[in-house]
Amino acid sequence: MITVVGASLAGLTAARELRASGVTGTIAFVGAESWLPYDRPPLSKDVLLETFPNSAAVAHGAHPGPTALLLDGEAETFDWHLGVAADGLSVDAEGISVRRGQHHPVGPADAVILATGARGRTLIGADLDGVHVLRTLDDARALAADLRTARRVVMIGGGFIGAEIASTARTLGAEVAIIEATEIPGAAVLGVDVARWSMARHALAGVSMHTGAAVETIDGTEGRVRSVTLGDGRVLDADVVVVGIGSVPDTEWAAASGIALDDGFVTDAGGATSMPGVYAVGDCARTFDPITGTHVRRQHWSSAVDQARTVARRIAGLEPPPQRAPYFWSDQYGHRVQVCGHIPVGVEPQLVDGSMDPGATEGFLAVFGDRDRPAAVVAVDRPRDFLRLRKTMDRALTGSATSVAHA
Ligand SMILES: Cc1cc2nc3c(=O)[nH]c(=O)nc-3n(C[C@H](O)[C@H](O)[C@H](O)COP(=O)(O)OP(=O)(O)OC[C@H]3O[C@@H](n4cnc5c(N)ncnc54)[C@H](O)[C@@H]3O)c2cc1C
Repeated sequence: MITVVGASLAGLTAARELRASGVTGTIAFVGAESWLPYDRPPLSKDVLLETFPNSAAVAHGAHPGPTALLLDGEAETFDWHLGVAADGLSVDAEGISVRRGQHHPVGPADAVILATGARGRTLIGADLDGVHVLRTLDDARALAADLRTARRVVMIGGGFIGAEIASTARTLGAEVAIIEATEIPGAAVLGVDVARWSMARHALAGVSMHTGAAVETIDGTEGRVRSVTLGDGRVLDADVVVVGIGSVPDTEWAAASGIALDDGFVTDAGGATSMPGVYAVGDCARTFDPITGTHVRRQHWSSAVDQARTVARRIAGLEPPPQRAPYFWSDQYGHRVQVCGHIPVGVEPQLVDGSMDPGATEGFLAVFGDRDRPAAVVAVDRPRDFLRLRKTMDRALTGSATSVAHA
């Protein structure tokens, strides 16, 4: 018996890979949300453009519609305990148990995979109507409903999810302002030059950007948000505010077990935590990265998939899958931004093709480091060329996978 805590991308990918690796026993999911697993990237894109009926109550195990991750007939191959947040983890002679209060939703397991992801960081004032975070399908539906009538949207945080929400809100016709603590939002993950391109895209789309700015208060009347006050006294009127200032890993529920925590479940490069038989994958895991020599909590779709496959194969006693370079994408203002590898600090990208002028419609491809063995690649609307270079980077890593994953 294997228990997966968290029924989303990382947990489902691990369960699938266990089956593909020949594991036939029970695989049970304990998931806090009522929905069957669904994909989160569409939440800040297509889902916000759609109209939904009020989704306050959903039956446990409900199908999440177009963002579903499960394939036809796949749900029956696993046991589901949904709408149940785990709040304890313990080990005894019978195995590893996941608890909720005094109850055990599932029996003791031989191995447990922690895939509880993260939740959006929030701010004081976020309990006013019209103030949102975006992490779950229910969050997206509530925000979509508010955006239908919003005239002024204030986005707190200019990271990639903030940029996507700003872009969608503009498409829906709202006036949009972004408040961002740093001077160049996204510079840490995109590099300074590409982050400047992204910033200029916002300006071109008519989004006003307040960088180097701090939020003092979120203010409202009669329980509904009205404005956001900045540290320098400026007041931005708002009928919708979205807080997108990063995430907190969902790990507290297991803290009493004594498992090693440090802004995430701390794992080796192969996903093993400090508790024997317990593994962590996806947004909740701070995994050792042998390339940088540090523990990193990556919060991207493909990292969740890669970590989950590695852990499942390890549990099944198989070699890890070939290692892949870190990758993520973002869709903003009708452009697809793709990033692969580790962007070196202080290194300027070399433009390989296209134009980094934000007004240009052709997109671009830029590399960091050696063109034939890049440290990182960034592309806007260049999916084919990007894929070619991404494969080159993945191939350069192949061969180190065994030593890496079981280190
Ligand atoms: C709005 C949005 C847009 C995104 N867009 C992109 C993108 O364009 N490109 C990209 O590369 N990445 C994107 N990402 C990131 C990507 O979706 C995440 O990296 C991925 O979802 C991580 O998967 P996960 O399974 O680790 O965690 P999650 O998907 O967060 O799932 C964790 C699950 O565990 C549950 N859980 C939490 N605590 C408990 C508990 N105690 N007991 C039981 N269950 C629990 C949660 O309710 C949740 O269902 C986006 C994320 C969001 C939120």
